[in-house]
Amino acid sequence: MSNMAYKGVNAVDMAKYIDYTGAYRIVTAEEFERKGYPSISVYDRRLQCLQCGEYVAFVKREGRHSSYFRHGNIREGDRGCSLRVK
Ligand SMILES: [Zn+2]
Repeated sequence: MSNMAYKGVNAVDMAKYIDYTGAYRIVTAEEFERKGYPSISVYDRRLQCLQCGEYVAFVKREGRHSSYFRHGNIREGDRGCSLRVK
């Protein structure tokens, strides 16, 4: 997985979505936006970065701005994912 520059920030446009049954699938931010999903917090633990496995948030944006996934705040012991927003 390459490091995707996204409008100046290293946002993530694909993630692993974990549903209530524990099953997961690869999703895109574009798909979530099209289906009208609300924003999802890192703390909901529903989305994981494909590269580092850390939980990510879905950031829903309106109008001409595209929605995207992003990492949470840096924690102690963080592995420094290259997809993390600087
Ligand atoms: Zn990551």
